[in-house]
Amino acid sequence: MTVMLGVDLTGRDVLLVGGGAVAAKRIRRLLDEGARVRIAAPVLHPDTARLVELHGLVWRAGRFRGTDLAGAWLVHTATGDARVDRDVAERCERKRILCINASDGAHGSTRLTAQAEIGDVTVAVTSTVGADPRRSVAVRDAIVGLAGEGRIPLRRRRAGRSGRVDLVGGGPGPADLMTVRARRLIAEADVVVTDRLGPAAEIVRGLDPDVEVIDVGKTPGRHPVPQDEINRIIVGRAAAGRRVVRLKGGDPFVFGRGGEEMRACLAAGIPVDITPGISSAIAVPQAAGIPVTHRGTAAAFHVVNGQGIIGEGTLAALADATVTTVVLMGVAALERLVTAALAHGVPAQRPIAFVESGHTAQQRTTRTTLGRAVADAEAVGLRNPAVIVVGEVAGAGLLFPSSNTIGAVLA
Ligand code: SAH
Repeated sequence: MTVMLGVDLTGRDVLLVGGGAVAAKRIRRLLDEGARVRIAAPVLHPDTARLVELHGLVWRAGRFRGTDLAGAWLVHTATGDARVDRDVAERCERKRILCINASDGAHGSTRLTAQAEIGDVTVAVTSTVGADPRRSVAVRDAIVGLAGEGRIPLRRRRAGRSGRVDLVGGGPGPADLMTVRARRLIAEADVVVTDRLGPAAEIVRGLDPDVEVIDVGKTPGRHPVPQDEINRIIVGRAAAGRRVVRLKGGDPFVFGRGGEEMRACLAAGIPVDITPGISSAIAVPQAAGIPVTHRGTAAAFHVVNGQGIIGEGTLAALADATVTTVVLMGVAALERLVTAALAHGVPAQRPIAFVESGHTAQQRTTRTTLGRAVADAEAVGLRNPAVIVVGEVAGAGLLFPSSNTIGAVLA
């Protein structure tokens, strides 16, 4: 039988009996936990000697003596001699000092666990039969893996004063293109504020029913919630002690107004952090087999919001055959963009591709040229969300030689 205690070793005296390579490993772990480690051993393995020097540890050179136990909260044996280890463990027992015995098959009163921190939750695994550290590690890793998929209910059940906001990038759509950290933060959240784009729908389906979900991407009147109102929502919920995830499509800092939300939180004194996401600017062209840079073809890429003004920088990028121009939110502005590019002298033959609903089952790619772009967009019924790619990398045949002719619609 064992009971696992979450012991805080910070600043506590821990005696390591033995100075070999195993001792070095355990010392590192105990130091990580904040323990004040002492060593009793006649000689030190170079790894252990290095730790003694690096951390200024107390080392009593010599074989173990009963007086070494004085003051210790915890003793760890690792002498490599099972008899000595057992003797130490027995003395600890008599003195009521907790003891970890590193000898094969033997146990002192205490065991180390296979441990992991998942956010602010600690998971520790041990077994009630003989020591089997690899099994414990495998079980622990499986739990960490489930947490990475958002399948562990990490949400706090007891309200704290720990209100905060996390701006979380959701990537282009599929939940498995989110980061492990994003999944964990969502699993911990009391409130999730979502947009239309990205993995929102799939994520919301998996949330506990009592998690508050606020969709600011659309309201009954179909108007998105104004930015000021979004800022008020996230700040207000966090100020009330709740953990808020502001989930966004792609990356929060790429045309996501994440900067404004971060400012609002900082101004209100709300702890705020950001978790990056895979931006559609790179991942959506990629889903259609278009690399935004390609050695010998495109040496740089320029990302622009199609709804904004078409500035000098964008015209220069469009005109430069070695630069890829990636346009987000560009469907409505396509004609304006093409007209400006052609007027600026960009060749009508410059390849252009439209990638709609990238990374979803509805993904569709249309390849054409600048000169025919407007007519072809109309012919295929180009719709949002779409990424428009202008540049040599958008041409047919760069990666898949035999496929797609100009203007062809690909699944
Ligand atoms: N922060 C986001 C971009 C937000 S702007 C990011 O980093 O990806 C919204 C624009 O992103 C859309 O108009 C569209 O151009 C693009 N977009 C986002 N997801 C997309 C997808 N799955 N397929 C095609 N375009 C997408």
